Amino acid sequence: MLRPALSRVSVTIYDVIVLGGGINGVGIARELALRGHSVLLVEKGDIGGGTSSASSKLVHGGLRYLEQGAFGLVWEACRERYYLLKNAPHLVRKLAFLVPVYKTSSRPVWMVRVGVWLYDRLSGRHRLGDSCWISSEEAIRREPGILRSGLLGAAIYVDAQMDDARVCLETALQAQEFGATILNYTSVTGVSADKRRVESVQVRDVFSGEEATLKAKYFVNATGPWSDVVLGLLNPNTEKMLHPSKGVHIITRKLTQDHAVLVMSQSDGRMFFVLPWGDQSMIGTTDTDYKGPIDSVAVEPEDIEYLIREAGLEFPDSHLTPEDVVSSFAGIRPLLRQKKGVIGAVSREHKLSWNRRNFLSVMGGKFTTYRAVSEAVAAKVHAKLSHRSFRSLTRELPLFGGDQIEANYEEDSIMYSVSKDIYEYVISRYGSAYRDVLLTLTERSDNCEYLVGTTYLKGEVVYAIRYEFAMQPEDFMRRRTQLFFMKGQGASCAQEVSEIFVRECNEK
Ligand SMILES: Cc1cc2nc3c(=O)[nH]c(=O)nc-3n(C[C@H](O)[C@H](O)[C@H](O)COP(=O)(O)OP(=O)(O)OC[C@H]3O[C@@H](n4cnc5c(N)ncnc54)[C@H](O)[C@@H]3O)c2cc1C
Repeated sequence: MLRPALSRVSVTIYDVIVLGGGINGVGIARELALRGHSVLLVEKGDIGGGTSSASSKLVHGGLRYLEQGAFGLVWEACRERYYLLKNAPHLVRKLAFLVPVYKTSSRPVWMVRVGVWLYDRLSGRHRLGDSCWISSEEAIRREPGILRSGLLGAAIYVDAQMDDARVCLETALQAQEFGATILNYTSVTGVSADKRRVESVQVRDVFSGEEATLKAKYFVNATGPWSDVVLGLLNPNTEKMLHPSKGVHIITRKLTQDHAVLVMSQSDGRMFFVLPWGDQSMIGTTDTDYKGPIDSVAVEPEDIEYLIREAGLEFPDSHLTPEDVVSSFAGIRPLLRQKKGVIGAVSREHKLSWNRRNFLSVMGGKFTTYRAVSEAVAAKVHAKLSHRSFRSLTRELPLFGGDQIEANYEEDSIMYSVSKDIYEYVISRYGSAYRDVLLTLTERSDNCEYLVGTTYLKGEVVYAIRYEFAMQPEDFMRRRTQLFFMKGQGASCAQEVSEIFVRECNEK
């Protein structure tokens, strides 16, 4: 799909320009476009290329936030978890968590049991399943790899796991479906404002270097961890609002059976997860103060050492070493700055603030609550643009590919000649958008061939370029698929993917 030309978007005065194409930006664009406002979203990289593809990929209330007394946040997140599961069943799935408790654990049995009980109560009618307490024998039967010595038993509770990059992408696709214009790989480099209002933003095409000035009645700053940098464009003396914290995950060979295991670090008492991730495990996250440039956050050897050491203590027979790390990634949490307290205890709440009469910033928050946060932002902007009342439209709205499907292979195969395996695979990945994908797959005979050494199809690269905003092979390898996070990091097909990008770009 061609990006709209800067020369075209710069002649329009939009109702709203949203800065940032992470989950909050695309969510806000969707809410406002859905209400008939003209919306332009400007993202300096790939859609979801910031924090929104570097999360733990959990749709969760956050059991550990109970310790901080953040009951409101947990309640809201549990409600949003329910909606997301319902509206994006092809991208979100339930996941059972096992919390082993030992004689030496910093959190005793009673505390863990009360915690999961409270978690259920706060979830109320949006509960995904009942939590329970199991004996140490039962815990070992379910997850034979966990440490046995001193084990007192384990709590089981249910949360959900998602493909974060694709939830973000599908929200952007839906925003576009409702009329929003999406301008990826375009960076906001300047803001023209007086003391009261913002008049325009200056942008630069990341590839061509072309520059333009874009105008709107309202601007929303949804640049996540970059929010302070963007506010600095408005006023270099702006007080910093964020307390950035780095989070690292590593991907290793599989350590667990079906459960996510919540590990309590023996060195610092922090909680982190060993999560099932296909036929591998995802271990994370770290949570450390970050003062470097947001653009160059990286996984350091000490991050890997910490996760390997702590996970190795919980899974002693795994004998994990750094050589077992298949892939890794780092992200920055856009946490709100607080006067005191350790990083892990910093609130995950969000904050909205008008920095000028028509420039609203949204900061903090969690992926799980993006719909509610986007709605709150949209309500504020909508109230300025329209007299029409505001009610929730997205709680029950299936995501781009989230509609109920009544697929019938016999009927569909008349139109799309693909094997039943490919047909089912496409439905499982793209949900109700499957027919669009099948159409692309049947366009060329080699589109149904697998990319070497993977379970992905060549035609999916074509589809990602034409209809999913992918502009570079990395967009496909890291975010449209999880190739980069699999053993070999997709090296077996990197050349093929690049060739398809070149071919598609030449055909444009
Ligand atoms: C390690 C880690 C684990 C996490 N795990 C979870 C989890 O399991 N569940 C959960 O609910 N939440 C989780 N979170 C939190 C969640 O990921 C974030 O709250 C959420 O992704 C933030 O989204 P955002 O849109 O605000 O920011 P981002 O996704 O970072 O989006 C901001 C966008 O703005 C763009 N941008 C920046 N500057 C400019 C500019 N000048 N011009 C144009 N565009 C610009 C960036 O490129 C970026 O794409 C986790 C966070 C981290 C770091």
